[in-house]
Amino acid sequence: MATRFERAERLTKLPPYLFIEIDKKKKAALARGVDLIDLGIGDPDRPTPAVLLRELARASPRNRAYHQYPLGSGLPAFRRAAARWFEKRFGVAIDPASEVLALIGSKEGIGHFPVAFVNPGDVVLCPDPAYPVYNAGTIFSEGVSVMMPLSEQNGFLPDFGRIPRQALRRARVMWLNYPNNPTAATASRAFFKEAVRFCRKHGIILAHDMAYSEIYYDGERPPSVLEVPGARDVAIEFHSLSKTFNMTGWRVGFAVGTAELVAGLAAVKGNLDSGVVSAIQAMGIAALGAPASLTAGIRKVYQRRRDVFVSGLRQLGFEVRPPKASFYVWIRLPKGKTSAGYASELLDKAGIVATPGNGFGDAGEGFMRMTITAPESRLKLALQRLARLG
Ligand code: PLP
Repeated sequence: MATRFERAERLTKLPPYLFIEIDKKKKAALARGVDLIDLGIGDPDRPTPAVLLRELARASPRNRAYHQYPLGSGLPAFRRAAARWFEKRFGVAIDPASEVLALIGSKEGIGHFPVAFVNPGDVVLCPDPAYPVYNAGTIFSEGVSVMMPLSEQNGFLPDFGRIPRQALRRARVMWLNYPNNPTAATASRAFFKEAVRFCRKHGIILAHDMAYSEIYYDGERPPSVLEVPGARDVAIEFHSLSKTFNMTGWRVGFAVGTAELVAGLAAVKGNLDSGVVSAIQAMGIAALGAPASLTAGIRKVYQRRRDVFVSGLRQLGFEVRPPKASFYVWIRLPKGKTSAGYASELLDKAGIVATPGNGFGDAGEGFMRMTITAPESRLKLALQRLARLG
């Protein structure tokens, strides 16, 4: 007989949440007194810009309305700021009233989106390797994840022609994520055109996660899927202030796109949460309206770290391409090494935390992911330790 505390099936179907497993190992090493260099989780090490913290301090105590439930789809001023930012960045005009929804971080929106649009047994097309939340959200909605492998030969883009026909007939949602976590790949407008054409043809919702839109290098700005003609009635895009403005802890992002898709997600959220803390939305308004130099400064730090770290890795003989965007470095492992085995070896012998590629899906086997969210001095120390490891 089932015990009273047996978890619901949907929870037992979840694969172990990757970062929790790594965190356990990390904590054990720290308890042993190891000087760990943590290149595991993608969380900016630099503080939230002072100008945004000042806005939080200024806005929160004074505004009595902020002391009460925020409710709704986000403060009208936040939605207007998001729409203005979007138009300035991508050249696409957005209606702040019907096409923008404030989120408690983009993860929250991504996880909840299938609740609005996926029925039990519906197929959700997920990239592999990928950010684990696309699959988790599918499981919570009792959908079926069908993986689209991202291969190096195909630039870590899915090959739509290889999606099984049977899966296509039942597909409701396709997730894409560019700039990509974990592979750091970017997608062109031409690829998005093809994705939009494909999703429209097969009646699939195109959900694009663009959490890393502003972490790009060499001046090459990644496009939005909503720039493509025809995307406006098939696509929703998830944006985050977390990585762009060093704001992971404040939890704010937004969804933008087809009004019906935004409204569906808003209907789920209206029954689950009471909105993003208003004072944090005020901070978000300041961030989205900030001069371009704010994000340019953040990018400059990562670009320098990328150059130092990737050239160091290459000198050591690692097979790695300099990322064009994101703060991840996706490294092919030496022949004969498994992802989990190599990550353990690095932790035990060099005190370096890296994320095994297979934690992002089967297609990630043979790779590991390292982040450059650590100071340059630590990245250089990691390179020295790797050199010693041989
Ligand atoms: N999407 C991707 C690909 C991510 O890597 C992350 C966080 O690591 C998120 C979304 C969620 O970001 P947030 O919830 O902080 O907006």
